[in-house]
Amino acid sequence: MTELPSEYHRRLPYGERVSADPLVGQPFFPFEGDVQVVPLAEPVVPEPPRAGEAGGKPCAKCADPDGYVIWRDEQWAVKAFGATGLPLVAVLEPNEHYRLDNLPPELTATLGPMIQRVAKAIQGLDSVGRTHFNRWGDGSEHFHLWFLARPLGMMQLRGAMIAAWDDMLPKIPDEELAANSRQVAAALAEGGGEAVVS
Ligand SMILES: [Zn+2]
Repeated sequence: MTELPSEYHRRLPYGERVSADPLVGQPFFPFEGDVQVVPLAEPVVPEPPRAGEAGGKPCAKCADPDGYVIWRDEQWAVKAFGATGLPLVAVLEPNEHYRLDNLPPELTATLGPMIQRVAKAIQGLDSVGRTHFNRWGDGSEHFHLWFLARPLGMMQLRGAMIAAWDDMLPKIPDEELAANSRQVAAALAEGGGEAVVS
């Protein structure tokens, strides 16, 4: 084992399976029965580079700036992805390559309004009850916020496990995804920028 970086790390039971009991039976947990947690892996320090970092894969956004984009303005772009089990899964990214911690003031100033606009545009879909959003940042260095459309009335999909439900639910048809993307792009364009889906 490499040297563990903190007291937190020194406490953890590497190689063992922690219990799933705190989650099983909870209203937002989508699994039941005998749930086995994977053995806890040792930390990897320094961490391997993310896409867009030195030594990592190329940044997907910078390599293909228009890929999946449904709306853009001079600062931001919104992507929508296919093969989703939710009414829409979208990503908000700055056009230029920044991390959250070095996002310049002109972008931090418009980030809040953009979150509000994207959430509102997605919530305008008749299948959607609420728009969840989150930033993980573990895969790519290029700052990106995920937006997950939580279907109306689907109370099991509340909370963080919506990302797991997205992978497990039946995929929505391509034509429905295209229609949802068009509606969201048009709603965004009402506040500025351009819709880029036909
Ligand atoms: Zn980039």
